[in-house]
Amino acid sequence: MAWAGAANHQPLIFLIITLLCFFAGGIIYTIGTYGHLPPGIKNNRTMFTSMSARGALAWISGITITGFYILLYWRDYWKNLFGADLFVGLVNLFNPLSMALRNTKADQWFVYGSLYTIAVLVMGFKFIYKYRHSSYQIIRTSSVMFFQLGFAWLLPGIMKSLYNYEPYLTYFWPLDYDAIFPSTLSYFQTQGAFGQFFIFWGLVMTFVATPILTYFFGKRWYCSWVCGCGGLAETAGDPFRHLSDKSLKAWKIERWLIHSVLAAIIIITVLLLVDNSFKNQLLGDSAKTMAKGYSFVIGMVFSGVIGVGFYPLMGSRVWCRFGCPMAAYMGLIQRFKSRFRITTNGSQCISCGNCSTYCEMGIDVRSYAQKGQNIVRASCVGCGVCAAVCPRGVLKLENGSDNKNAPKFCLLPKI
Ligand code: SF4
Ligand code: SF4
Repeated sequence: MAWAGAANHQPLIFLIITLLCFFAGGIIYTIGTYGHLPPGIKNNRTMFTSMSARGALAWISGITITGFYILLYWRDYWKNLFGADLFVGLVNLFNPLSMALRNTKADQWFVYGSLYTIAVLVMGFKFIYKYRHSSYQIIRTSSVMFFQLGFAWLLPGIMKSLYNYEPYLTYFWPLDYDAIFPSTLSYFQTQGAFGQFFIFWGLVMTFVATPILTYFFGKRWYCSWVCGCGGLAETAGDPFRHLSDKSLKAWKIERWLIHSVLAAIIIITVLLLVDNSFKNQLLGDSAKTMAKGYSFVIGMVFSGVIGVGFYPLMGSRVWCRFGCPMAAYMGLIQRFKSRFRITTNGSQCISCGNCSTYCEMGIDVRSYAQKGQNIVRASCVGCGVCAAVCPRGVLKLENGSDNKNAPKFCLLPKI
């Protein structure tokens, strides 16, 4: 109704009604579902509902979300094909918000970013309420909500109104794959102090802050506290975390795939930079064609379509686990040079398997717990859900020195 109505009538009224429905619906559903239950994780019937157990509803949702993204991505193509804009109502609906924030009319990507942010906020509230017994989960989820709302939606919108450029301050190379492409650097060099700042910010975050923070905290500082992809996975994706494939075969595919994506973007970036230093005389258009291919296959299909649309079928972290080059980069540091680990108290483990079941990254946590072994895995995003669902308090997320006698370093809340 809002979609159709906003195209012809008062978009502001329809927008307010739509936003109220989103937020009020989320609050009523959350309190209705968990309010009468004592604090503590309730995953009752997760394995049996159509939505969370790959039933008909899961398939319908997967196809709908995927289809929506494809229609949105090729909006102009469909417009030419059908002679009508499928998104005119939806885009008009968000015009008042876009005018207020960005001082320009909405486009389909502002609509997408706004819906994304609303999903993180509404489902974040649900997540916090569900895990309200855990201070780690409350603070961590508040953090991803804050970064999504402030750094990935509000600030870019304000920048757009001031400088006519919308930078995403929480994405860095190699995840923001074209951040250090010659074309991006040349653009920033023409933007005065503003442009210099963004070149500096991107380089420092990728090559200085990321290794240091990952050394101290593991990749969780980013994957579970800051990143927008992780933010959506941790909030809207929470009902699907148990769907991640736990098999050894999936682990092997994961390692090959994610490191191949990282290698691909490093090679493409280096080729583009080298070619640029030879005034594009060295490689012709081949490096640019590779970059375009990467943008479509990894940037659009993998992270956009599969990464979000397949939540109800393959779990919430398909992109983070199999495709994200930033996760691969931090994973290498986490695996070989980081203080982060999950410690286990094997004697307390009753082998219930809750930890493995709800690990969204497909890690067989129980096998480590049974042996009393520390978990130091490149893929662990430090969400802490394995520890939260453990009925025996076997698991602890820690930042410690390799030296067992050294004091523990812990700025993050303990779980
Ligand atoms: S091992 Fe635990 S903290 Fe790591 S990703 Fe899995 S559930 Fe999250
Ligand atoms: S949830 Fe706790 S008790 Fe159950 S298998 Fe995992 S570590 Fe062991």
